[in-house]
Amino acid sequence: MEKGLVSVDRWTEGSQAYFLTHLHSDHTQGLSSTWSRAPIFCSRITAKLFPFKFPDFNLSLLRVVDVGFWYSLSLVFPSSASRTTVEFMPIHAHHCPGAVMFLFRGDFGWMLYTGDFRWEANSERAQLGRTTLLNALKGHRLDVLHLDNTYCNPSYDFPPRSVAAQQVVDIIVSHPEHDIIIGIDTLGKEELLLRISRLLKTKIWVWPERLQTMHLLGFHHIFTTKTTLTRIRAVPRYSFSIDTLEELNKKCPTIGIMPSGVPWLMKPSDGADNLFGSLLTSHYKKRQGSTSGRLQNGKFKDNIKPVDGRHRYIYSVPYSDHSCYAELQEFIELVQPISMKGIVSSSCCYVDPVYYFGRLCGGSKPLERLSDKQEKEDGSERVVAPEMKSCLVSAKSTNTDRKRKTGKGGSTGIHALRRVRRGAKIIQNDFSADSLES
Ligand SMILES: [Zn+2]
Repeated sequence: MEKGLVSVDRWTEGSQAYFLTHLHSDHTQGLSSTWSRAPIFCSRITAKLFPFKFPDFNLSLLRVVDVGFWYSLSLVFPSSASRTTVEFMPIHAHHCPGAVMFLFRGDFGWMLYTGDFRWEANSERAQLGRTTLLNALKGHRLDVLHLDNTYCNPSYDFPPRSVAAQQVVDIIVSHPEHDIIIGIDTLGKEELLLRISRLLKTKIWVWPERLQTMHLLGFHHIFTTKTTLTRIRAVPRYSFSIDTLEELNKKCPTIGIMPSGVPWLMKPSDGADNLFGSLLTSHYKKRQGSTSGRLQNGKFKDNIKPVDGRHRYIYSVPYSDHSCYAELQEFIELVQPISMKGIVSSSCCYVDPVYYFGRLCGGSKPLERLSDKQEKEDGSERVVAPEMKSCLVSAKSTNTDRKRKTGKGGSTGIHALRRVRRGAKIIQNDFSADSLES
């Protein structure tokens, strides 16, 4: 896609439309409460959490879009000044609350930006996501796949979250006299905590800001900030350390659990416990052959160790909100991209996904572009009303909208286009809620 049209999780480049996949900080760098460049498209949950992360943000700039619906933008190619229609669909990313992928189509072909995502192909919700994606693609291959390559290495071989969550529960149950601390981020791992709470019939302590987030997500009676009500505490990841646990154990027997796709690492200081060498070492039996048989009779068939203990007080459990290597492969085989790029470039372990999966790209089958279809079918392939949905959040207008109406007008982004023609309109059509998903 030509630069200057659309930006996803990038906030420093000039574009006509901006998209936010989710609210983790590494996807919002450059975004601030004073943002005024153009509207931002995001999911409903992300919009709900947005003011908490960006107080005083002009919320009229948020455009809520719903998963499984096509939306349409009228933009202008910067190189030719010719008008083009960019259509997009949000799809569940199963990463953290509110996280979505964005599928784009237009004169540039088909493009998918996964953001961070977990593709547990055997879970019920992932099956739904798979159906949504395949229905949207309608047999087209992707021209470009922007892939969450966080764990794009065969060494990253971890089980579904349901399996890892049970491991966490088992650890807690096997330490009935201990206090428990679990390292989490400011968003994510809610399902793990809910499962612990449900199975062990206990509340879980979180820090005050995290409690507000939990309440925004609708979890009102499960979490608490009173330490006297529970022995299980979810603590900020940055405060999870050996020093912390050593100190806690001077007062009360305490273990720490770190749920992550990367084994929790100690600093390489004394040599004996130097774990840095294990960073790319699988802790599970290497999968043989096809990855399609990960589950057998509902059970994870690999001979995994139940828990990888790394320190006398610390358990590292492979509970990940990112896809493991095998899941990435399954996903790429499903969407058959012509080309592919990794979205994570700053990691010290960055691996270009083409290195491992380049053989799955390209292929001999010519891509049936949208524009080809339009020629063949005389426009009938264009997005039709039943699939469309307005992404205008409310009747509130943005500052630039107001300027436009008074004839003063903003000069950047899609609103400038509105001045010139009918608008970078988000094409509004009638639609029925059950038009696409089934
Ligand atoms: Zn994330």
